[in-house]
Amino acid sequence: MAAEPAGEYAIGIEILPYQLVAVLVDHTGRRLDTRRWPIADMEVATVVEQVSVAVAELAETALEIRLPDARLVVGLQIGGPVNAADGLVLAYANHPTDSMYAERDYHWREPVPLADLIRAHTGCRTVVENDGAAFATLEQHYGVGRQTPSFAVVLIRDGVGGGIMMDNRLMMIPFEFGHIKVRPEGRWCVSGDRGCIDAYAGRRAIRAIAGEMTGADADLESIEAAIGICERSDGDAERMTAIFRQAGEAVGHGIATVLSLFGLTHMVVYGPREMVDPASERRAAKAFAGGVFGFPSLTYPLYRSAHVAIRPVGVADGAHAAGLVAIDRLVNAHTTRLEATS
Ligand SMILES: [Zn+2]
Repeated sequence: MAAEPAGEYAIGIEILPYQLVAVLVDHTGRRLDTRRWPIADMEVATVVEQVSVAVAELAETALEIRLPDARLVVGLQIGGPVNAADGLVLAYANHPTDSMYAERDYHWREPVPLADLIRAHTGCRTVVENDGAAFATLEQHYGVGRQTPSFAVVLIRDGVGGGIMMDNRLMMIPFEFGHIKVRPEGRWCVSGDRGCIDAYAGRRAIRAIAGEMTGADADLESIEAAIGICERSDGDAERMTAIFRQAGEAVGHGIATVLSLFGLTHMVVYGPREMVDPASERRAAKAFAGGVFGFPSLTYPLYRSAHVAIRPVGVADGAHAAGLVAIDRLVNAHTTRLEATS
């Protein structure tokens, strides 16, 4: 039985390659429902259509709301650079070196007015945000934001991104954490540069490095396979574990740089559960964490005691984060404006 709609709601949607996760939140940001849908292909029109279907179905089945309805707003997050003020996705693509989607290439070459397109299809006011920035908003509501108004988040997925919250405001800057150079003559990065964090620490990089190590002429099929090799009792296990330590060290180096630049006391690293789970007894997770926590020796002395937390990304975290962005910008900002003018 659906609840009688009262107040305002947001549907947060995380757009991932070939799937989306949708979360319904109330005006306080509390999560009420979670669903997943496949996306048939990653053409803009298909993604817009599938997001619109997800919004309409979730609104109808969970709230008995038929669109358009002014009580419902939409927040989207996506793993690419965005202009949040204008609701534009500036670029979104898999990468040619990434074997994961080689048969199903996608590449949005022009900026896409995604917020406007979803609003046109659903009638709902819509915001769009970069995934790392959205995770900073999640952390502001439910994580270190409860202890400090200023912190940074690192988000490890196929690549590496992040976001910075300063004095409780999400910094509207391109925070290209993954493209901080940590090894001048290091591996080539998808950015065309060498030695970036992204060239060591994302799923894409680890699968590629692991493939090189095993001598196969291809990327390892999954990060889980790499983690499995770490558990064996041969030379490969040792070398594979070193790859996870190297990934952690690259992230730790970037953390040291960000701490020094912004004078932060807190940072949070989100990553794939199998790779970062702090409760894991597996070698890969321990090696990764060991690398990350080498950051103090590389940072400005004042910030060596900064608190760094490592958290696994939950299935609904990204969509929840997108819902919070929508509530903050479209519902609570709206309420504040009404109060100010009344
Ligand atoms: Zn790069």
